[in-house]
Amino acid sequence: MRQNLHTHTTFCDGKNTAEEMILAALEQGMDSLGFSGHSPLAGECWAMEVANVPRYRRQILALREQYAGRLDVFLGLEQDILSPLPEEPYDYLIGSVHMLEREGERLSVDESPETFRRGTEQWFGGDPLAFAEAYYRQVGRVAEKTGCQIVGHFDLICKFNEGNCLFDTGHPRYRAAALGALERLKGQKVMLEINTGAISRGYRTAPYPETWILKRARELGLPICITSDAHSVRHLRYAFDQAAALARSCGYQEAMYLTSAGFLPGPLPDEV
Ligand SMILES: [Zn+2]
Ligand SMILES: [Zn+2]
Repeated sequence: MRQNLHTHTTFCDGKNTAEEMILAALEQGMDSLGFSGHSPLAGECWAMEVANVPRYRRQILALREQYAGRLDVFLGLEQDILSPLPEEPYDYLIGSVHMLEREGERLSVDESPETFRRGTEQWFGGDPLAFAEAYYRQVGRVAEKTGCQIVGHFDLICKFNEGNCLFDTGHPRYRAAALGALERLKGQKVMLEINTGAISRGYRTAPYPETWILKRARELGLPICITSDAHSVRHLRYAFDQAAALARSCGYQEAMYLTSAGFLPGPLPDEV
């Protein structure tokens, strides 16, 4: 199965329309594509406008009909933990933590290294590990709060931390925070995604999540799917080989794929 369930279009912060994504997927020999527009979050320009959600749903469902038999199209949503829950049904939800909230203010986790540094000073007294601990407390709750099937970019807090330039992911406090979130997710019937999005955009050289996190997820029995968080047609299956190699190195023999019968396991994407 050649599938990617984490994609964005011009309905939110993607560069291409849904139909352009579908045509590119067909050109690239994919069998299946899921759309995961950002759930509405008031005041955030990267999220979908509430008023556009019905149009998003109608358009994806119409495209599903139009391309039936050529490409399986799924209607999903990347449901931010701070967004109101969707009122309409979706084929799947990716639950993500992009921002922290405190006393009516929000702090972005993944906007820029400058935002990270400023947030660390202003919210956490200059302690980046305290930022990470607050982030993982939310990640641990993301399935309970959103009802998602997929946990989005588990260690997004490391987006700008290549070479541990902002904080040390080997620090016992960091490890305890990340592993605590994994433990809490274990009982939730969710999967993690191996997400290559930050590589395609030049922020990282490896997919989310880090190897030791993925190894522990495997021990806890959490399945995985492989996605590229594609914001353009160029990244529909970006670095899937690298993601498959990472999965295998952490003990995974298969990945999960969404089908008309729900999520089913299948071969890692470098085998198909
Ligand atoms: Zn995201
Ligand atoms: Zn995304």
